[in-house]
Formats: sequence, C-alpha cells, structure tokens
Amino acid sequence: YQVPNWSGDWFRVSDRGEMEVTPGPGLHAPLRAIVDEIVERGESLPVILRFPQVLAGRVKHLNEAFQNAITEYGYGNHYQGVFPIKVNQRRVVVESLAAAGYDYAHGLEAGSKAELALCLAQRMHPDALLCCNGFKDDGFIKLALWGRTLGKNVVITIEKFSELDRILKQARALGVKPAIGVRFKLHARGSGQWEESGGDQAKFGLNAYELLRVVERLREEDMLDSLVMLHTHIGSQITDIRRVKVAVREATQTYAGMIAAGAQLKYLNVGGGLGVDYDGSKTTFYASMNYTVREYAADIVYTIQEVCKAREVPEPVIISESGRALTAHHAVLIMPVVDVTGPTRDLEDLAPASEDSHQIVKDMEDVLEKITLRNYRESYNDAVGDKQTLHNLFDLGYVTLSDRARGEALFNAILRRIAKLIQNEKYVPDELEDLQKVLADKFICNFSLFQSLPDNWAIQALFPIVPLDRLNEQPTRQATIVDITCDSDGKIDKFIDLRDVKSTLPLHEPGDRPYYLGTFLMGAYQDVLGSAHNLFGKVSEAHVTVRPGGKFHIDLFVRGQKARRMIESMGYEEPMLRDAIEDQADDAIKQGILTAGQENELLDDYGEELLGYTYLEYEEG
Ligand code: PLP
Repeated sequence: YQVPNWSGDWFRVSDRGEMEVTPGPGLHAPLRAIVDEIVERGESLPVILRFPQVLAGRVKHLNEAFQNAITEYGYGNHYQGVFPIKVNQRRVVVESLAAAGYDYAHGLEAGSKAELALCLAQRMHPDALLCCNGFKDDGFIKLALWGRTLGKNVVITIEKFSELDRILKQARALGVKPAIGVRFKLHARGSGQWEESGGDQAKFGLNAYELLRVVERLREEDMLDSLVMLHTHIGSQITDIRRVKVAVREATQTYAGMIAAGAQLKYLNVGGGLGVDYDGSKTTFYASMNYTVREYAADIVYTIQEVCKAREVPEPVIISESGRALTAHHAVLIMPVVDVTGPTRDLEDLAPASEDSHQIVKDMEDVLEKITLRNYRESYNDAVGDKQTLHNLFDLGYVTLSDRARGEALFNAILRRIAKLIQNEKYVPDELEDLQKVLADKFICNFSLFQSLPDNWAIQALFPIVPLDRLNEQPTRQATIVDITCDSDGKIDKFIDLRDVKSTLPLHEPGDRPYYLGTFLMGAYQDVLGSAHNLFGKVSEAHVTVRPGGKFHIDLFVRGQKARRMIESMGYEEPMLRDAIEDQADDAIKQGILTAGQENELLDDYGEELLGYTYLEYEEG
C-alpha cells in the first residue's frame, strides 16, 4: 500500500499491523479503534474521520517552510498564506484552519458571494488577507467593501477589466477605500491535470495591456495606493517544480514592471498549485509531485528575491493560495466491505461434470486438469474458445443452465490456475496481461463514489486505499472496489503504484470481523464536489483529537444526511409523501390486501426510513 511513501508525517502502520493517524510528535491512534467506538455508539457507517490536528499541522508545515526559506535567504519581507475555501468549506475545516492560521496571519480566499459571507464571519488576525477572487457582481463587491469597514484586510481581485469601474463606483457610493488586486494571465503553464488553467487561453485574468490600463485608470483617480496585489495562478496540483519556478519568475517580472509603471504593490500572490503526492512516487505523474513543501517555498522565495534584486524593486509580501496541500491529509473515508463477488468466488460445491453433461463442459474439465507452464497459452486459448461455444450452444438450447454454470466456473478456474502458474514469470503474453483484472474480486463497499470521491470518477484522480488493520497479514485477494450506487461507473479500478497505475488492489479475505477500508488524502475538493447520485447523501463525520498515550477523543459526531433531506432537495415535501402513502394504504385496506394493523406498521417503517441514513445500515460487528 506504499504507506511510508505518501503518508508524510500524518499516518503510519503500527507494529500491530494497524493504520494509525500520527498528527504530532508522540501522538498516534489506530483508526480501527476509532471506527469501533463509533460503531459501539450505535452510529452507522460509512463515516469520514476528520483530524483537525492534521489540518493545524499542515498550516504550520507550510508557514514554517516559507519562514525558514525567508530566514535562510535573508528575504526582506514575509509570507502570508490564504486558504481558498472552495477546496473545502466544511465548518470544521474552515474554523480549524482559521484558528491554526491565526498566529501566522493566514487568511482566506472567497470565490463567490456565499463564500465571502462565510469568510466574513470568521475571526481572523487583523493582517490576515481575505482575498475575493472570481467573477463579481455589485452585491459581491459591496459585501467585500463592507468587510473593510469591519477592519478586515479584504482585497478584491479583478479577474476582468470591466470589474474595475464597478469596484470604483461601489467604493465611492459606500465611502470605503478599496484594496484591489489584479489577476494576470501568465504565459507560463502548470503541469498535470490543470495545465489549462494557465497560459494565454486561461479563463481568468488580464493581459499585459489591461494590467497597464488598470494602473493608468487608478492613477487618474489618484488611487494608485489602492492597487495592492498582483495575483497569478497556473492551476492546481502542479507536478513539476520547474513549472513553478518559471511561473514565479514571470509573475515577479510582471510585478517589477507594474512597479516601474508607478504601481505601489505590496503583495505578490503566486496562487495555488502546491501538490499532494497521492501515489508517493515523487514524480511528475499527475497523481504525484517531484518536490517537497520545503523545496516549493524555497524556490518561490529565491526566485522572487533574485528578480527583485535584478530589477531593483522592493521585495513584496509573498502570498500563496494553497488549498489542496493544506486539506487533503486531514480526512479519511471509512468504507465497510459489505460483500465480495467475482470469479474467485465460484461455488466450490458445483457438481463435477457427469455422464449427462454436455461434451463442451467435459472438454473444459479436461483443459483444467492438463494445464502446465509449457501449455498454459494453448490452454488459455482453448478455454476462451470453449466458453464462447458454451454460450452459443446455450442460446440455441443445447446446453442446460446447470452445464452453463459448471462451464463458466471451469473457465474461471482455468484462468486462476494460469494466473498462479505465471505469477513469477518475467514474460507474459499480451493476451494474458489483463488476467489479474479479469480475475479480480469485486469488494462491494458501503459508499457512493459520486458523493465521496467524485474526482476518481470525473478525472481519474487516485487516492491511497488501505485496510485499517491486518496489515501484517499477507493479502490473498486481488480486488477492485464497487460502490452501492446503481451505476456501473461507481467503481474503483485504478490504484496507486510507484511505477504505474495498478488495476487491482491486494486485499484480505474478510472474516467474521467487519473489514474496513480507508481512503486517504481525500480532504481536498472531494467533500464539496460530491453529488447525490441515487440520493446517497452527505456521509457522517467524526471529528477526532488524538491524545498522548495512543488515546483519542471523538469531539463531535455529525450524522450524515437523512433520506428525507435528500428527497426534499429534489422538490418534494415530507408531509406530501406521507399523505400519498397513507391514501394508498387506505385504498389497499378497502381492497382487502392490507389490514389496519399492517397500515400502522407500514407507516411507521416508512417514517423511520425517511429519517434514516441513506447508506446501507447493517448491524456492524
Ligand atoms: N487559487 C485559485 C485562484 C484557484 O483557482 C485554485 C484552484 O485551482 C486555488 C487557489 C487552490 O489551488 P490548490 O488547491 O492547488 O492549492
């Protein structure tokens, strides 16, 4: 599962073979024990475990990385982070980050009116920035300006030129002096899946000509001191540090150019993009990154300083809008395995071929018995051909259902035997490369991919998936994971690997004890992009603090969305539904297919389900 490669300081495998969260020096707690306590309290799974200490640790890590680089290079200004709340607007996340970031004057970034309303309510360090990005109407601008009257360091970033006049108009009307940022379209691009966010064709930002027009326009208004920030962003999850350096160099040259044109900028905002090493490969692969947080900070500080020295301009306050890197680690989705299906599950008790069995079944039995390392390729081709013939004969009525069952089981048994024979072979023929995948079991897990890991479905994002315990026991199954939605896309069949992407995950045979899988590094974007496919709603969450001595405390348990909430979000009303059921029950009583006693029971059960969790509710344990 490559745990040491992707877990940083935050998770580890204990000597007892259990996944542990390790949010600080001397602090560790097994995830299995946390889940067991949740279940003992009578709560249902799935659940997301959130660790505010991990969030605080990430804030510290990022800020210290910049502070250390600033000290090392003797940089003449400081760093201030800004958390873009679109990455995760959950209350515990925003409040934990705001609290952990207070001493670092770590601020927030809002990209919409609703996000701004939420950010304004947070208590922040007076110097902490509240950056307003995204397209803005007058209401958005007004709210941002009111924020300045609350003593907050609100900066409104212009994403397109026409926003400038609207800001000036609203500021005049309210009598508030605005602080303005301007987003520049760098020609530099990021790397990885969000490469298109940068470059000339980027959705947001002004070009060089428009940038100079902003300076001119503010000079005309005698408001040059309102232009405080230059903002750039070349996309999320930048995999290659060289792209960061190139972009920061261009951004700093632009900053210097604006200073030369008369701007009095204070802040240089390098945007988001700091990556997360989801697969632990430390490469430029899209699920990885070829640098550390320390290198990221050092390269940004060094590059800005170098350009500023050469251009003889003051070194600006450095801002980054890192979101993914702050939040990914803090959350783990716990998915109970509720069933296993697949070709290795064929009933061993199927009767052997008898005298009456069809010849094709007898042939397949023969193939199975005679497989060797010398003839496995031929056996494979025979089996594929026989299976096809079996199905054709079945369609024509010449093969019985039980012969078909026996034939299909034999086919799977042949593949299993071949897979075992060739598992250590260096050369595997092309046609057999997918054997593992074909033979993989399907571990059915109680969760919805669309609600909890939407990026896996939408953009093939990879997340480390690890059983919570039994990690000192050799897994015996190769598996893919399927969710409980009625959608065949609701599956995970790509897993992290150091060299490539794996199509199966080794897992243990579930025993009498419930078997839980944890999906790690899912705290960025997943919570907020999730959708209610099949009306599976928000997952329950436990906010957990780890205490010394391997202990933990569940500070808060927030139950997931009830069925009623999901149904109501589609425009229905609960009383309407209950009335409709009652009317139909009354009719059924009249027709004599339901008794009055049964009606009460039915209505009770119906009401209970409306108030229930949308996921499968089993007695765990
Ligand atoms: N800032 C802006 C303007 C963004 O568009 C984004 C996301 O793409 C971010 C910051 C956050 O980026 P990340 O999560 O990669 O840190």
